[in-house]
Amino acid sequence: MRKTFSFFNQKGGVGKTTSVVNLATIMAGLGKKVLIIDLDSQGNATSGVGIDKNENESTAYQLLVENSDPNTSIKKTAIENLWIIPANAHLAGAEMHLIGQDKREFVLREQLKKISDDYDYIFLDCPPSLGLTSINALTASGYIIIPLQCEYYALEGLGQLLNTYQLVKKNLSAELELGGVILTMADVRTNLTQQVIEEVRNYFKEKTFQSVIPRSVKLSEAPSFGKPAVLYDPHNRGSLAYAALGKEFLMRFGSDDDRRELAAKAKEVVAPAVAEEIQAEELAPENETSQPAPTNANT
Ligand code: ATP
Ligand code: MG
Repeated sequence: MRKTFSFFNQKGGVGKTTSVVNLATIMAGLGKKVLIIDLDSQGNATSGVGIDKNENESTAYQLLVENSDPNTSIKKTAIENLWIIPANAHLAGAEMHLIGQDKREFVLREQLKKISDDYDYIFLDCPPSLGLTSINALTASGYIIIPLQCEYYALEGLGQLLNTYQLVKKNLSAELELGGVILTMADVRTNLTQQVIEEVRNYFKEKTFQSVIPRSVKLSEAPSFGKPAVLYDPHNRGSLAYAALGKEFLMRFGSDDDRRELAAKAKEVVAPAVAEEIQAEELAPENETSQPAPTNANT
């Protein structure tokens, strides 16, 4: 369970799936065996790693509802070291079935026990709800990772989220810890973003990852190519930020060997350096086709 992470926020569209897909790909690139479990019937993590959502006989639905052997649901992606248990629209009906099951909050946890030794990290892409699927994710996880969008309403709903986390920890799974908070979709040119970042850092202290994910068109268009942005366009500022986050993640959750190895490569790592680079780039917006203004040449 220590290596299983729930990317969780009941708010929709805050960057859960984008973070799961890109961070998992970075970790896989660092040589870790990573399994994503798509727990959202939208199936965005599934298509985000290039798997057709509608061509899977066995998915997270079978895993949760039919108690099928998890191995039959695992699909190898085209990315080395990265596997996924896909999801599609069927999953929307899973909670109805789960309600009637014995130990319904622990179905996923029991299933993951059968396969967790095969992976270094398991990332659970939660749906935007506090329902039974999310509860199953939390009880199966060692850590909760909260993506927060840098916007005015970022902290709205956070009380409810933390309350759910505390209730699960108190009543269902004492092992669950807050692993970290990822600030997403930052537009560092605005005061509002700066204020949100400051407020979140004040509240969550060192749990907040240093690497802030900027708003990036490349991050949002990569899914339509069925490729994580960090592979589709590794050098854009969004991908660089996820690469920095990946290293930070490994520093936080990896083994002593991982940390030693990263420290040895510190020059090319250091998250703050990447953050500075991102800030510098922010001054020159990504997709601006900076044509020179037409001059009124004398004719
Ligand atoms: P849901 O709650 O619906 O599952 P989510 O929390 O998983 O949503 P994403 O799907 O990762 O959020 O992101 C929501 C939308 O914002 C997507 O269209 C995604 O491509 C886009 N997006 C995510 N992160 C960024 C970013 N840093 N810059 C620009 N667009 C982004
Ligand atoms: Mg999602």
